[in-house]
Amino acid sequence: CGIVGYVGPRDSQAILLAGLARLEYRGYDSAGVAVIDGDGDLGMRKRAGKLSVLRDDLVAHPLRDGTTGIGHTRWATHGGPTDVNAHPHLADDDKLAVIHNGIIENFADIKAELVAEGYTFRSETDTEVAAVLLGREYRTHDADLVAAFRAVADRLEGAFTLLAMHEEHPGLVVGARRNSPLVIGLGEGENFLGSDVAAFVEHTRSALAIGQDQIVAITPSGVSVTDFEGNAVEVEPFEVLWDA
Ligand code: GLU
Repeated sequence: CGIVGYVGPRDSQAILLAGLARLEYRGYDSAGVAVIDGDGDLGMRKRAGKLSVLRDDLVAHPLRDGTTGIGHTRWATHGGPTDVNAHPHLADDDKLAVIHNGIIENFADIKAELVAEGYTFRSETDTEVAAVLLGREYRTHDADLVAAFRAVADRLEGAFTLLAMHEEHPGLVVGARRNSPLVIGLGEGENFLGSDVAAFVEHTRSALAIGQDQIVAITPSGVSVTDFEGNAVEVEPFEVLWDA
């Protein structure tokens, strides 16, 4: 039930875990993170249970540092609260990681289509369908993650805040939202995404609210926001006023 994304010069794992801790008040049953390291390798860890279960696992079996990362707390709707059903979900030969809050209403139709094409699934979630679809669209859109994301977001029905990143694009996190919140946090040489400003308020008070049916791409040096057709849109800057 919480989402956080980071791109910048710092190791993202501590930032992601702290952001998820600040979103804990919303309730959740599982948690996970994925990071891309300096060599462009994607590492992922996810566990059912409290954030402390994930944190302990990361201490015992560390992931390599990565300056691009996404983190998720899950409130299970499709598939029980297990390690496998926790997010991130991987696709495109485990090069692509996706996290999601919400419910994808038409996941069964899309899953049937993908299964008929030979794609396989590990989890029972609606989210993995979006991940596998994004993997397919990424390849048919010449490895353009933003264009692929647009095609996927346009196809999905229901409620979603979705974030994705791909090994072939270190330094890029892409997000989309429909009927579910997503906010950008603007830093100095680093940028954040959150389902709620709590995810990044300890790092920056400068934020941008993403509108309905919009796609955002963040890199360490900039952000771009478009609608699902790819047209640039105006976003509303605001200052986070409450105490961190
Ligand atoms: N529907 C997704 C799932 O069950 C996401 C749930 C959430 O919002 O955390 O995995």
